[in-house]
Amino acid sequence: MIWIPLLLACSWAPSEPQAPKRPNIVFVFSDDHAQAAISAYGGHLNHTPHLDRIASEGMRFDQALVTNSICTPSRATLLTGLYSHRNGVPVFNRFDGSQDTFPKHLQAAGYYTAIVGKWHLGSDPTGFDHWEILPGQGAYWNPVLYTAEGQATHQGYVTEVLTNLALGVLENRPKDKPFLLMCHHKAPHRNWQPSPRYAAEFSKRTIPEPSTLFDDYATRGAALHENRQTIARDLTRFDLKLEPPTDLQGDERNRWLQSVPDAVEIEVDGEKRVLVGEALVRWKYQRYLQDYLACVQSVDDSMGQILDYLDQHGLAENTIVIYASDQGFYLGEHGLYDKRFMYEPSLHMPLLVRWPGVTPPGSVQSALTLNIDFAPTLLAMAGLQAPFGMQGRSFVPLLRGQVPTDWRQSMYYRYYHDPGHHNTRAHYGVRTATHKLIRFYSRDEWELYDLVHDPLELHNVIADPDQAQQVVELKAELERLRHEFQDDDRFQDAQPPDGVDGSVKKLRNGQ
Ligand code: CA
Repeated sequence: MIWIPLLLACSWAPSEPQAPKRPNIVFVFSDDHAQAAISAYGGHLNHTPHLDRIASEGMRFDQALVTNSICTPSRATLLTGLYSHRNGVPVFNRFDGSQDTFPKHLQAAGYYTAIVGKWHLGSDPTGFDHWEILPGQGAYWNPVLYTAEGQATHQGYVTEVLTNLALGVLENRPKDKPFLLMCHHKAPHRNWQPSPRYAAEFSKRTIPEPSTLFDDYATRGAALHENRQTIARDLTRFDLKLEPPTDLQGDERNRWLQSVPDAVEIEVDGEKRVLVGEALVRWKYQRYLQDYLACVQSVDDSMGQILDYLDQHGLAENTIVIYASDQGFYLGEHGLYDKRFMYEPSLHMPLLVRWPGVTPPGSVQSALTLNIDFAPTLLAMAGLQAPFGMQGRSFVPLLRGQVPTDWRQSMYYRYYHDPGHHNTRAHYGVRTATHKLIRFYSRDEWELYDLVHDPLELHNVIADPDQAQQVVELKAELERLRHEFQDDDRFQDAQPPDGVDGSVKKLRNGQ
């Protein structure tokens, strides 16, 4: 009786082996989301069940690093697979959309390509069948979104608006094509305006402080001392959501909101207290983190809705889900907020990938992965070769749990925007698994950190005689990388072309 099913099996078998079905790709990209604010990364600040689900069903990248820790350059690098000095966006420059980008290749290969949310590149998107983008930074409430046809105001909270638009793309996409959906959230970017639900919930919480909140910058060079992204000296009343006196109007009111309070009156158990000094810094930290984490919670909900959609529509098995952010962020480490510096909290970005049948569930990857790798990786996922000249490398082998023997052992970083919005000194540097060497070149100051013995980067050991050989080797490696990536200092003194942040530019063709 055995021959019957065999015969049936033979008669039903296709005459030729079928090519594997090309996977769909959902790429969710948030703005300024630190690894420390995702519970899958082992932090104790919040609980993010939906992001954690990607990690538990896929791979968590612990050493995913950005090559220039700031919004607009990171987005240009994502699209091109190139360092800032090669894609022409070292600061807030307008992105030349005629460049080669990975969505163009996916589109040409038959993918339906769509992006919704933050774009922040000063020119209209190219390579997308559908785009719906926030102008500049976009608004937290009732955001305007631009499309190729015009613009529209959407009522509601931006993270929820963008989620609904992303789900609409999935719903209305052509069903006969594989798709790339990029959902780029505005949150949790400054000034951290949460939805009322989470604002109320997080306002009751006491967030653990980082051990370096009161870092005194001893042993460090001028750059940290001069920076203007500290919780103590730079968070404004607007950031802290303080209410202006009712008699202030117009410019006077704005000046009040943009100023930094050196004392704040609060009420505890019906009793009024005035906070100054360290107590005030601690209060500012709580206000900042409560709002930041509340914003993250909506991003986590968004991820949950997208994962649910994939489940409910039979798409989960053949859809790669990627979650990342354009860089990391300081959540009080070294007394800071914001990004820019090459120190660990802003150098790292979160990166979680679920690829059913490929990523071992619950796996952790510690190989150095860079944002220049996104473009070649997304192409490789679709079975496409990266075009000649892309500077990143596909990390698909890492997703399979295999680290090629010639995988990078060091990375090159460069930040340009000096003084920028936070009086940050331009710098470049090299990071290995164990050390980091930074050169603040406008002052010719160097910093060296031993990441094994000093993971919090509190001790600059550049002048330590025991490190002399290490310094020689790292300087040589830095020069090797600068040569390999063809950084000829062409943007040494890069500034935004019109002296303003791209966030306030009009995003129309020809403007
Ligand atoms: Ca950002």
